[in-house]
Amino acid sequence: MQCPKCSKRVRAAEGVVCPDCGYVFALDPRDPHGLSDFDFLRLSHQASFGGRHHFTQNLLYVYYCMERVPTHAMWPLAGLLGGAIGYHALGVRGGVMGAAAAAGLVYHGTKSWRPPARTVLDGVCDQMASAGHRLPRFIPRALFEFRDEEKYVEHLPRAIDVDHVIVVDRPELVDWLVLNDLPRRLNAIVISHTGYPNYVVPIVCELLDLRKSIGIYLLHDSTESSMAIRKQLADSRMLPTTGHRFFNLGLEPKQVAFMKQLDAIQPSRNHFRIPLDSIPFNVLERALYTSINRAVPLLTGFAAAGWVGRDD
Ligand SMILES: [Zn+2]
Repeated sequence: MQCPKCSKRVRAAEGVVCPDCGYVFALDPRDPHGLSDFDFLRLSHQASFGGRHHFTQNLLYVYYCMERVPTHAMWPLAGLLGGAIGYHALGVRGGVMGAAAAAGLVYHGTKSWRPPARTVLDGVCDQMASAGHRLPRFIPRALFEFRDEEKYVEHLPRAIDVDHVIVVDRPELVDWLVLNDLPRRLNAIVISHTGYPNYVVPIVCELLDLRKSIGIYLLHDSTESSMAIRKQLADSRMLPTTGHRFFNLGLEPKQVAFMKQLDAIQPSRNHFRIPLDSIPFNVLERALYTSINRAVPLLTGFAAAGWVGRDD
């Protein structure tokens, strides 16, 4: 395995120290995740879009599965190889049988492949952290970054610029979207339907009272429904929503069905229920921008971001 710090080839295992640079390996590739430190840092580099965006374990899992999904294109190659071996050993009939057997085996293997359980990466990030390796832009499961009042302020658009309020279904989504500076990029305030972070709620209430033109957008995992959030929002009376236009942004399971980039995690096995942060931030941001500014469904926004469509 390669040392992620100096690129020296080392027999890596947990606790092993690189003889050249002193890097302490945190992961053992013989564990069920099969990742070395080098593999893991490469995955998190992908998930952070080259270090530009904050990400969670949900996106890390998508990239992890993408690397593991066997490619369907292998079966003709296997057929050729099996055919050649069979022909050499037993002549024409052997060639045909060898080709069929090898292609069949590989084809069956790729068809019956299942993604590893979501929990496969649990603890991996902690192991890296406890070995002293910081993961730039990684958001651990429950961060609640913005309980500290000073922090959201840096990300708030100017009051006069606020055009939208985005209500999400999980506090973790607030952390993810705000750390990535979505409020300023979209002139929106992001809060959770339970009122996280609570010091932002009065700011939102004041703006909603002041300007009826501000639209309220509901955004959530494809396990939640916009209808449910809207009802909870109305019941809680947290926001003065009367007179404001509501927009359902999703994510809905039927939209996820169109996202071929998520094939590696096989969302169909889970009725297309996925966490919103399985989608790379840059893709979601582009989709939201299109959807909000052109008043089109989020799926159209995803199409504009090149995240929707099927080749087969
Ligand atoms: Zn090294």
